[in-house]
Amino acid sequence: MKEHARVVVIGGGIVGAAVLYHLTKLGWSDVVLVERKQLTAGSTWHAAGGFHSMNSDPNMARLQAYAISVYQEVEEISGQDVGMHLTGGINIAATSERWEVARYEHEKLKVLGIESQLVSPVEIKDLCPIIDTRDVLGGLFVANEGNLDPYGSTHALAKAARMAGAEIYVNTMVKDLVHKPDGAWTVITDKGNIQCEHVVNAAGLWAREVGRMAGVHVPIIPMEHHYILTGDIDELADWDGELPLILDPDGEIYLRQERNGVILGVYEKKSTPWSVDGTPWDYGETDLLESRLDNIENELMRGFERYPLLADAGIRRIVNGPFTFAPDGNPLVGPVRGVQNYWSACGVMAGFSQGNGVALALSQWMIHGEPEGDVFAMDVSRFGAFTTNAYTIEKVKEFYQNRFYLLCPNDEWPAARPNKVSAFHDRLQAANAVFGSSYGLEVPLWFAPQGTEPVETPSFRRSNAHEPVGEECRAVRGGVGILDGSSFGKYEISGPDAESFMDYLFASRLPDLGRIRMGPLLLPSGRLKGDMTVMRIAHDKFMIIGSGYLQEFHMLWFEQHRGNQKVRIVNRSDELSAIAIAGPASRELMSLAASGDVDKESMPFMSVRTMDVGIAPCRVARLSFTGELGFEMYVPTVYARSLYDHLLEAGEKLGIRPFGIRALLSLGMEKSFGIWSREFTPDYTPAMCGFDRFIDYGKADFIGREAALADRDSTPEHRLVTLEIDSHDADAWGYEPVWHKDEYAGFVTSGAYGHTVGKSLALAYLKTPFLDSTDNEFSVHIVDQRRPAAILPEAATIRVATRMRS
Ligand SMILES: Cc1cc2nc3c(=O)[nH]c(=O)nc-3n(C[C@H](O)[C@H](O)[C@H](O)COP(=O)(O)OP(=O)(O)OC[C@H]3O[C@@H](n4cnc5c(N)ncnc54)[C@H](O)[C@@H]3O)c2cc1C
Repeated sequence: MKEHARVVVIGGGIVGAAVLYHLTKLGWSDVVLVERKQLTAGSTWHAAGGFHSMNSDPNMARLQAYAISVYQEVEEISGQDVGMHLTGGINIAATSERWEVARYEHEKLKVLGIESQLVSPVEIKDLCPIIDTRDVLGGLFVANEGNLDPYGSTHALAKAARMAGAEIYVNTMVKDLVHKPDGAWTVITDKGNIQCEHVVNAAGLWAREVGRMAGVHVPIIPMEHHYILTGDIDELADWDGELPLILDPDGEIYLRQERNGVILGVYEKKSTPWSVDGTPWDYGETDLLESRLDNIENELMRGFERYPLLADAGIRRIVNGPFTFAPDGNPLVGPVRGVQNYWSACGVMAGFSQGNGVALALSQWMIHGEPEGDVFAMDVSRFGAFTTNAYTIEKVKEFYQNRFYLLCPNDEWPAARPNKVSAFHDRLQAANAVFGSSYGLEVPLWFAPQGTEPVETPSFRRSNAHEPVGEECRAVRGGVGILDGSSFGKYEISGPDAESFMDYLFASRLPDLGRIRMGPLLLPSGRLKGDMTVMRIAHDKFMIIGSGYLQEFHMLWFEQHRGNQKVRIVNRSDELSAIAIAGPASRELMSLAASGDVDKESMPFMSVRTMDVGIAPCRVARLSFTGELGFEMYVPTVYARSLYDHLLEAGEKLGIRPFGIRALLSLGMEKSFGIWSREFTPDYTPAMCGFDRFIDYGKADFIGREAALADRDSTPEHRLVTLEIDSHDADAWGYEPVWHKDEYAGFVTSGAYGHTVGKSLALAYLKTPFLDSTDNEFSVHIVDQRRPAAILPEAATIRVATRMRS
């Protein structure tokens, strides 16, 4: 066994093997994998081996599509058969809603470059003669799906890695990890120690245990999962085709062929978490769990109805095995905050679909410093301290049970809520708020009319929120509205080196004392890393505001760049609350409520002051995402409730009205303001989205400067535009294709109804040549129909631009 290696990958399941292979593929050969038993000894060996491209997150879907191509590659390199059956896959729809969504997904897949086809019940029957399609309305067929052999695919990846210089030590158990002062690691195994630069936790079922060795909490829970293998079915024995992988989400079952029988898997409603406090070290290799047929009876019955011949085929084998899930079902990938050179590759619930994508992103991160595109959906930093074990159990159960639930874009799932609440949550409840959850915190989405139940109907079309949100928007534009901004991320960076540190971190000029600037963060590749608001509150102290769900993501980035500089970086998101007021009457309200001068001269646009509001000590910023005259107040959380009450009382005669995130986004859309995770992600560069106007290209140095200069001088492939869409009962949500006549022109990133302009609006990235189209005749797929659309030459609401700055 080697005593030194650049990387030690812990775990030889499909994910560890894929990571090892990708590290070598991208150029690192001094890498080893340590496996306590044999390769595949965790969840991997008992998997059904199905792989598919569909994922509700488009970037995950893209990575899943990539994952599949790698199996053919490693089979060729290694000569090891991966048992590939590229049968194609069908998602069948047995309800009108599901069928509508299948048509919508079909359009979205075009944006991702994944070929799909809508198929009729007759075509489904041709592809799968044993199915009963009586209640089936249609299906979505994707050619690039199927199944493979878990053992063969893991070994092919491992062998291909070995051929490129990697080493694999089986029957070798990692017992402990020691972090050395220089950031490197000693990996202590039962066969000796390995000194290495980087450690990768790919320990699957035991990822929590391996996490604890480095003091890392891994928010995953294993769930029991069943499939049955039937006996032979004569019709299949006599047939010369092969069944596709079929997902029947309405029945909560999946099916694929196995020789002349089938594997039928279920995601049962009576779900069972397994070993919630930790995975026993003696589990694995050949163990299976006792089957719980009672729990899966309903789903099995539906399977037998859908495939009537199964009833006669008999059950040859029942498999019940555990595999792990993160709270939202997506993998946990990337660097772990506070633990240098420790990388996560865990929580991969669909290892054969996702393993290679996880491995590619992680290897790029380790070797090049960043993954190639936006991988936030699987970034381990999307979770923080709120993902306790109890929280994770609740959320994982919810995810498992709803694995095939028809998820609408406005769905808010209830498990483990309320968790964190803002200081005036009761006031928002009394105002009939409908809450969503962001980073574990309850946030008001909109306010239902008094006397009605504060619940939103899940829908791809405009919901019961539409009218109330419209009223909130009009109240803001016409007078003054008040918003709970407690969910904003709030940071302070201070110290003797704060200015130089910040100047290097942010691509913009830093604000002067008492002033505010938009602060883009760039990656070394020049793509976007963050869109923050930077305030200078002392010569050597800055307050920074960002999206609250990015707290770990932002803190990790700040800390990674601190080096030896004398700076203090503090996340104050929980200890500070934020309340925003917006609308033409907001200055009058501030003058009634605040101790300091708030007139235009004393508090111009993009300024920040310290003053009392009511009896609460606040930091007050003169800005608003609504595109209106507005103020944001940052206040210690213990004062937030009295501040909220005071503002409501003082604003009564001005007709003050609470508004929620939905109204905020609609108002922002009217001003063509983009948001992080939609218009702004690491997929885009400043020139594509107009962020170039915030960048100080003349600065001596900042992260991504070289690439940003090149970006400035090039013509980007896509540019962000605002579209007006002729749509009457639905708005765009994101990732809908945009067409110019019949040519694909680009895709939507987000959409909203602009209530005060009476237009359905969307922000979209269009291929640059289409921006010069003289006819301006575009169309966008809204739900399942193509609707006419046109590029707006400027934001839908420009008349308030002067008011925003007043
Ligand atoms: C019944 C069932 C059916 C499934 N069907 C599918 C399917 O059709 N398609 C699909 O994509 N997914 C399926 N899955 C899920 C799939 O099995 C997992 O996503 C995948 O196996 C996860 O792989 P992994 O490498 O992350 O973890 P694991 O397979 O658990 O591998 C972790 C490895 O790490 C090793 N290890 C742990 N700790 C240490 C240590 N301290 N030292 C050394 N080695 C260590 C373990 O021995 C193990 O080999 C199914 C799962 C089950 C249970």
